[in-house]
Amino acid sequence: MRAVNTPGAERTGHVVVIGGGIAGLAAAHRLLGGGVRVTVLEASERLGGKLRAGEIEGVPVDLGAESMLARRPEAVELARDVGLGDLLQPPATATAAIWTRGGLRPMPKGHVMGVPGDLAPLAASGVISEKGLARIARDRELPPTPVGEDVALGGFIAARLGREVVDRLVEPLLGGVYAGDVYRTSMRAAVPTLFDMARSGRPLTEGVRELTERAARRQDGPVFMGIDGGIGRLPLAVADAVRAAGGEIRTGAPVTELRRTADGWTVAVDRAHGTGGASGTDGPPVVTADAVVLAVPAPAAARLLAACSPAASAELAAVDYVSMALVTMAFRRTDVASLAEGSGFLVPPVDGRTIKASTFSSRKWGWLGDAAPDLFMLRTSIGRFEDEADLKRDDADLVRVSLADLGEAVGLTARPVASRVDRWDGGLPQYPVGHLDRVARIRAEVAKVPGLRVCGALYDGVGIPACVGSARKAADELLGTQTATLEPGSGTGERE
Ligand SMILES: Cc1cc2nc3c(=O)[nH]c(=O)nc-3n(C[C@H](O)[C@H](O)[C@H](O)COP(=O)(O)OP(=O)(O)OC[C@H]3O[C@@H](n4cnc5c(N)ncnc54)[C@H](O)[C@@H]3O)c2cc1C
Repeated sequence: MRAVNTPGAERTGHVVVIGGGIAGLAAAHRLLGGGVRVTVLEASERLGGKLRAGEIEGVPVDLGAESMLARRPEAVELARDVGLGDLLQPPATATAAIWTRGGLRPMPKGHVMGVPGDLAPLAASGVISEKGLARIARDRELPPTPVGEDVALGGFIAARLGREVVDRLVEPLLGGVYAGDVYRTSMRAAVPTLFDMARSGRPLTEGVRELTERAARRQDGPVFMGIDGGIGRLPLAVADAVRAAGGEIRTGAPVTELRRTADGWTVAVDRAHGTGGASGTDGPPVVTADAVVLAVPAPAAARLLAACSPAASAELAAVDYVSMALVTMAFRRTDVASLAEGSGFLVPPVDGRTIKASTFSSRKWGWLGDAAPDLFMLRTSIGRFEDEADLKRDDADLVRVSLADLGEAVGLTARPVASRVDRWDGGLPQYPVGHLDRVARIRAEVAKVPGLRVCGALYDGVGIPACVGSARKAADELLGTQTATLEPGSGTGERE
């Protein structure tokens, strides 16, 4: 077989994509557009990874990720590319709340990841005490706080504005994305706009106000987007598009070994763990390829790269993950008629509750209200970095503690007509200070191996658009349409 991208040659190479989550499927889709042959190998029987379409009481719901950032274009573009454009839908309400200091309080407007640009709405919200507000105001008098090459988000903001704003606003907002510890999370990786501003040495509140005013002037359209029927439809539609373009997808096909040979790769599949079937373990136990895209979480990537890139493997093995659980409940709509307005609420860990957030899904997503007019879907999430003890509870107990917290937060006394618990072990990679340097080291090591690329949630951001972006980058580099990051003669998939 010819190489993936021998200059002047027709592209006929074979690329194996390992991992059938959104990153792997997006990479496969992109690669097929470049004219190569593609095989996707997915360990489980289900495609989509952390995107999962399911149902409760016969109504479609998302059991994993449920919304995607629309200000970054990659995910929305992918949805349009695979025919879901007409089903894209922004949230019906963007009004959210914070359950803190003994009550449900409106999320103050005019912030960037909880960092306020304007103290008036913050004061009116009651999220921060008088003392906390006075401390924020000192931002303007303080000398610049050094940030160096990277800094912990929580520590930096606490130095500028005090701990209260970190604990009651930044932490729950960041928790909604990374489920991470704000005092360890990299500011450069998690909120690059704040990092750039922090480097300038300006008062933080002043810079944030400028950012929020600029964003308001741009009127860029919805910040977030969902899909009628659930975000879980996205990977399935991408998989359909991959198959339609001639790509092969095997589920129940866990890859156990990745070996670089003289002229490409051999990829070993453990057929004993699959259940067989049309798409799955009927395929050969060893697949040969000209190039490989590794789109699996860090522990699996570390195992698979141990032989061909020990240095990348060691870096990957050091990445931490957090586990979480989602409790989805269906109520009779009439039973929750008096539920608070808005799309749900976040819960700061300092308040010592079990749930970290609740989404009023039937309010947030118009399509869900239409699909089940008599039911009201609501979900809670549980589990944070180094605070996963509650995940040891059984499913019934997680439903019970969710209802107890909802009772206190919003006075919900109704019992659900149905509930389900979905556990996401190792759901989210953590981005501690220095994470971007680690990612750069991983990519540099990987690029030394001809015909190998990596993508997924642990590289450029955990959100769906970032995962799709990293998949595009991996695919484009293999196809040779991007040369900037490639060393001459390495990593382009070229071989003798
Ligand atoms: C509960 C939860 C809610 C979230 N909510 C949102 C949200 O609303 N919006 C948002 O933007 N992001 C959200 N995220 C984050 C986002 O969904 C994920 O970061 C993203 O989907 C990860 O995609 P991925 O393809 O990188 O990895 P994954 O989805 O983890 O896919 C990796 C795939 O690789 C497979 N695999 C592993 N090992 C092997 C092997 N050896 N051989 C073959 N296959 C293998 C796995 O089975 C899996 O299917 C959420 C995450 C979680 C956990």
